[in-house]
Amino acid sequence: MAEVTVKQLAGVVGTPVERLLEQIKDAGLDIASPDALVSDSDKRTLLGYLRAQHGKDSNDVATKPRRIALKRKSVSEVKVGSSGRKTVSIEVRRKRTLSRPAVQSTAAPGSAEQEKPEEITALEKLRADQARREQERELERELRRKRAEQREQEQQSEESRLAEIRAKAEAEAREKEEKAAERQAKSVKATAPKEKKVLTPDELQAQQAREQKSSAKKHKPDFKEDFREELKDKDTLFGRKELHIPGGQSGKRQKKKGKATRRSVVTAIDAKHGFEKPVEAIVHDVTVPETITVDELAKRMSMKAGELIKALMKMGVMATINQVIDQDTAVLVVEELGHNPIVINEDDYEKELLARDTSDLKVEHRAPVVTIMGHVDHGKTSLLDYIRSSKIASGEAGGITQHIGAYHVETNRGVITFLDTPGHAAFTSMRERGANVTDIVIIVVAADDGVMPQTIEAIQHAKAAEVPIIIAVNKIDKEGADPDRVKNELGNYEVIPEEWGGENIFVNVSAKTGQGIDNLLDAISLTAELMELQATPEGLARGVVLEAALDKGRGVSATVLVQEGTLRKGDIMLAGEDFGRVRAMYDEFGNSIDSAGPSMPALVIGLSSTPDAGDEMQVLADERTAREVAQNRQHKARDMRLATQQANKLESMFEQMKAGEVKKLNILLKADVQGTLLAISDALLKLAADNEQVDVRIVGSGVGGINETDISLAAASGAIVIGFNVRADAAARRAAAERGVELNYYSVIYELIDEVTRALTGMLKAEYREHIIGMAKVLEVFKSPQFGQIAGCLVTEGVVRKDSPIRVLRDNVVIFEGELESLRRFKDDVKEVHSGTECGIGVKNYEVKVGDQIEVYERVELERKL
Ligand code: GDP
Repeated sequence: MAEVTVKQLAGVVGTPVERLLEQIKDAGLDIASPDALVSDSDKRTLLGYLRAQHGKDSNDVATKPRRIALKRKSVSEVKVGSSGRKTVSIEVRRKRTLSRPAVQSTAAPGSAEQEKPEEITALEKLRADQARREQERELERELRRKRAEQREQEQQSEESRLAEIRAKAEAEAREKEEKAAERQAKSVKATAPKEKKVLTPDELQAQQAREQKSSAKKHKPDFKEDFREELKDKDTLFGRKELHIPGGQSGKRQKKKGKATRRSVVTAIDAKHGFEKPVEAIVHDVTVPETITVDELAKRMSMKAGELIKALMKMGVMATINQVIDQDTAVLVVEELGHNPIVINEDDYEKELLARDTSDLKVEHRAPVVTIMGHVDHGKTSLLDYIRSSKIASGEAGGITQHIGAYHVETNRGVITFLDTPGHAAFTSMRERGANVTDIVIIVVAADDGVMPQTIEAIQHAKAAEVPIIIAVNKIDKEGADPDRVKNELGNYEVIPEEWGGENIFVNVSAKTGQGIDNLLDAISLTAELMELQATPEGLARGVVLEAALDKGRGVSATVLVQEGTLRKGDIMLAGEDFGRVRAMYDEFGNSIDSAGPSMPALVIGLSSTPDAGDEMQVLADERTAREVAQNRQHKARDMRLATQQANKLESMFEQMKAGEVKKLNILLKADVQGTLLAISDALLKLAADNEQVDVRIVGSGVGGINETDISLAAASGAIVIGFNVRADAAARRAAAERGVELNYYSVIYELIDEVTRALTGMLKAEYREHIIGMAKVLEVFKSPQFGQIAGCLVTEGVVRKDSPIRVLRDNVVIFEGELESLRRFKDDVKEVHSGTECGIGVKNYEVKVGDQIEVYERVELERKL
């Protein structure tokens, strides 16, 4: 635009001439007359002044009009709240150019156009004076051309930067490529755990890259295109080829211009994609622990979790990113995706931690550990009581024993440890947990009752555990006692007395009179001697938790049976998922003891949570290892729980879908001691395991009295509450009554199981069996206006009943199922017609043909048993 007079300018910008003159004066310009000329530079100064009036930096404009574009940049400074007032910051310029790569590629004036609305917006906010704004806009318009020129200049310098960046990007890309190749080579060679370590920084890098990529995505294509286009442009239009030269000297300048980092990373990623795209799929060695989250597994395969979820879905496994999947599933999906799964067993690591060398320790004879089993009421408890009272009373704490789950007696032939756990279920559940604590099993058989179902079970359990069986033929004092009958009966189960050439010792005893008890103890000692039971009393103790309970006063108390080494007060003890220092130890008489050697039971105080019966107990030299192992076990248990919970959910859904309906008996079980709790829950679960139609769920279980929380859990899950030797407290009783929760108390396991069985039997869907009661053959068919189609039939078998369901058979194939409309003999309606008799049959809703057979049947409800 050519130079204009003040008057003209006032007209253009729509402000009174006087006002404009005033402003010009205030701006420090030496123009006083309305007809004086206003140069471009004057206009800029004026604009700068006006802006300054509104908090904008006018210095650049006023003193360095050539940098007008920079001033524009400083506008953006204000916007971002930057404090870069003192000098023109390149950093700011860069940002702006970078954020608008598309603008750069279009014509320069376009970019100025882009700039305008922003400025207006900014000004609008600041300005109340409408006229002044108009003025500024007009001035701005006039200056646009100048800006465009400036812009071109900028682009040139921009171009030089781009060239540098490109060079750096290329260098980086080359570096990446090399690294990638290296990594590829490594990933083929490396063993799994090592590979994971190798991969970790890469994974991080990849993740960073992904993030940056996504943020750069918008710009990237434009930028690239831009970049090329501009170079092309400038090469031809402006002949700036030399700008590439400094770019070639990459390194140092890049470093100096540290601010370009962000950009160069973007470029580098871009380049990386070009180079790193693998031509062949990389086969990873993927370590698969017992449980793993989907997310973690995806990482180990260097893939996106989403992709893994899809792959799982294809295999029919629905999983979310944080879901824990089990080892089998993980191995399958890893293979499915073409990688190489390496199954790792965390137990191995644990074993390594817990391993100790006991080869140098001297071994000694140890006492046998005995379990008494047998049918209910055959005298197990009485026998134990008798032995306890007769053998222990002498000299020991007045003979008052405590229930700690085990006790030991001194006999003439040495010490015997008895496990006072409830019967064979506990025995088996312990054994299932890998705890073979029993050396000898005594099976009590009442001489007046003989072999009963639980006797047989006990034999089976003992044989399965491969432990010697001693038969105590009890109640020998009773009149109807017939020990020979017991011997004969047991012969059927391959339990043969020694005197008959077998290998089992039979001892006749009376738990009531004490007759034969010494013989029994002798038999035990003798058997033990033959077994040459040995253990070392030296070194750190190792053993098994027999039971554990939460005591209000003492906290967690656990009975442990030491199997080797010696357990001492102050030891660091690891049991199950818990560890703790042995604070106090007691024997079965409640006496405080300092140590317990092999085959000795001890009540231990010091754990913080109740371990399970059958858990291994181990003393460790240092707390750190104990903590590590305990924590590992906790994590594992939690993951396992999660994994099975999830599996159960799916499974049950499937099953319900298949079966249409699954009957469930939900039980909340509370018991006095851990051992009983386990025994009962195992027995209950076994009940249902044998029958597909019922499902016993133990929704909650624990040691101790029934409290309000238990009731709410039971109510929430529609469960019945079973208390074994425990009772509900007042609050719980109230809650149970309010919420209609059933409370059941038992003190005999057998009765408990019996009752649940009955409950389940009652719940079972009635099973019907069809019973064909008669058969009739269609001899002729006619229609009666009154009755519709009537078949003249001969009853060939049994009886045809009017009200029984029928089937029509043609060539022995059922073609219709339904009922009879009418049954007549001559002209009379009858209820039934017997074999050898002719009758008229009307089949409801079906037309039979001559030669068809009509089968009449009944449904008979069968009694259901588990
Ligand atoms: P468990 O269920 O196997 O523990 O059997 P118990 O020890 O509770 O005994 C059941 C019943 O048999 C009790 O009433 C005992 O008193 C009784 N009993 C146990 N042993 C003998 C015995 O040797 N002789 C007699 N006469 N009765 C016995």
